Amino acid sequence: MSETAVMSQKLSERITNMSTSATLAMAAKARELRGEGKDIIGLSLGEPDFNTPDFIKNAAIKAINDDYNSYTPVDGYVELKEAVITKFKRDNNLNYTLPQIVVSTGAKQSLANIAAVLLDKGDEVILPCPYWVSYSDIVKLNDGVPVEVKTAIETDFKMTASQLEAAITPRTKMIWFSSPCNPSGSLYSTEELNALAKVILKYPNIYVVSDEIYEHINYTGKPHASMAGIAGMFDRTITVNGVSKAFAMTGWRIGYIGAPDWIARACNKMQGQITSGANCIAQRAVIEALNASPSTVKYMIDEFNLRRDLILGLLNDIEGFKTNTPEGAFYVFPDVSFFFGKTFRGRTINNASDFSLYLLEEALVATVTGDAFGNPNCIRISYAASQEQIIEAIKRIKEALSNL
Ligand SMILES: *Cc1c(COP(=O)(O)O)cnc(C)c1O
Repeated sequence: MSETAVMSQKLSERITNMSTSATLAMAAKARELRGEGKDIIGLSLGEPDFNTPDFIKNAAIKAINDDYNSYTPVDGYVELKEAVITKFKRDNNLNYTLPQIVVSTGAKQSLANIAAVLLDKGDEVILPCPYWVSYSDIVKLNDGVPVEVKTAIETDFKMTASQLEAAITPRTKMIWFSSPCNPSGSLYSTEELNALAKVILKYPNIYVVSDEIYEHINYTGKPHASMAGIAGMFDRTITVNGVSKAFAMTGWRIGYIGAPDWIARACNKMQGQITSGANCIAQRAVIEALNASPSTVKYMIDEFNLRRDLILGLLNDIEGFKTNTPEGAFYVFPDVSFFFGKTFRGRTINNASDFSLYLLEEALVATVTGDAFGNPNCIRISYAASQEQIIEAIKRIKEALSNL
């Protein structure tokens, strides 16, 4: 008689310990309710509601017709890396050279590469809160330890030099932050970066990952400030950027870094074993995107700016929403702790997750809990939606909250 072994379905600890992306989870939940026929307004996703500009689409069509179909160089086509260098020089006054550029399958892969090549077990990565949803899981996946630095809405969710210094330990390897920030919309000025740099430069082994994917979505009228441009920081900074947000190209999956050569070389090596080079058609299209003047996408920025003013005005009209004024990106990150402890149909709202779920079920508006970004008192509302949708969504939210 043969014995049949019971099939084991044990996944690795690595994946079991990873949290599911909260933004994607919320989108899935919204989809489920839509499937039940509910009219959900989605303000949860972080992607522009515009189409990719025609001149970029045409470049992709041309690339297909020109038979771009082979494997690409692992770190990207030379023409694309040259376009990245041109962009860094033109927009950020940064002088990178070819060996310092690596093109990846989205900025998300750029971040995953960096973590993989720089972190050893127990190395700490300082994350000013709120931070982009994937930072802490990417760090943990690579055996790093995320160290959260709490910031307050009153100071526009920005980490000060003294907060940074207090968080540094002998195990600190990196600081990761985005400016303009997803989810808070905050943006560090040159002076603020200078103050942080002064602390960092006291420690020879600390590197900065400066995620600048929202650089063009900036409402201040002032130029974007890059950490790598601060005196002494060029060799200590990995500048991460991509085309997803500014050019409405989230699905094309192209991101890139400018980094010290030794780090870029390691990212290239890592990528060579995992994904190889990024998609050939998307790369050809991005050459056109980056060689174009940023003014070609100004119409999107202008529209986001109008929506920001619209949504802030509407939110500030609701008792209990505490907002600050985001200076970039397309999110507001209001503090909703006023509503904690309130009850509806026997259910108590205890935290931002409950609140976000309440808005989904009672107002039919999808948002994301601040927990996912390291701040349990806030929710993230994306205004990458039409003005009509924003007006209707906030009206529904106001009505639903009047029942509490
Ligand atoms: C969207 C986003 C990314 C990821 O961009 P992709 O290029 O689409 O992978 C990285 N960082 C921040 C802060 C983002 O909001």
